[in-house]
Amino acid sequence: MHALLVEDDDRMARALGTALAQRGHTVRRVSRALDALRYVHEAGFVLLDLGLPDLDGLELLRRLRTVCDAPLIVVTARCEERDVVQGLRAGADDYVVKPFRMAELIARIDTVRRRTRAPGGGPGGGAADGGRAVRSGDVEVDPAGRTVTVAGREVRLTRREFDVLALLAARPDEVHAREEILDRIWGDAFLAASRSLDVHVAGIRAKTGRRGLVRTVRGFGYQLGAAPAVRGERDAGS
Ligand code: CA
Repeated sequence: MHALLVEDDDRMARALGTALAQRGHTVRRVSRALDALRYVHEAGFVLLDLGLPDLDGLELLRRLRTVCDAPLIVVTARCEERDVVQGLRAGADDYVVKPFRMAELIARIDTVRRRTRAPGGGPGGGAADGGRAVRSGDVEVDPAGRTVTVAGREVRLTRREFDVLALLAARPDEVHAREEILDRIWGDAFLAASRSLDVHVAGIRAKTGRRGLVRTVRGFGYQLGAAPAVRGERDAGS
């Protein structure tokens, strides 16, 4: 598969490029955000360093996500919780903190690629695709068209946010364990993925403006909830 490697550090780029080539990937390495935007359309997956000379990495991540849905792993020296959460919220599928072991990064690339295959092909892909639309309050989730509307207006979720919501909507009467969601959508239970699930749920609530749409069942998991048109806090721990 073709990888876009966005990394301004030559040594790091060489090491990553070699490791990727050994796994059979072709690699285009760029060191500036502008070039990342230029070449992202050809990428099967993206490795993104956040510390770039010409643009903040998180800003680049947001811009990449508006034009490209390819699996994206942040490779960063920033290990602050806040940075990680912002990265996931901006649409990263996973992240690896430098210094990392190459084997771990390669494993994560394989996992991310597996779970982000075409709809129906990955562990999460088959969760709800092709099912019928589900309504909760004024929210409609359409797994066939992969669209979410709130009061008739379409809300754009990231691919992964949609997968989580569609999984809950496919069986609205059930509480879904965290482990089940992680396994079906992420295909693994890396610590990063576990954190990522919470971030994605927060994203769904924020973007739809319907906090009750996803109900937290504390210590267990999530369920599709009622989504009253007025914002409320009724989901927490209820
Ligand atoms: Ca850098």
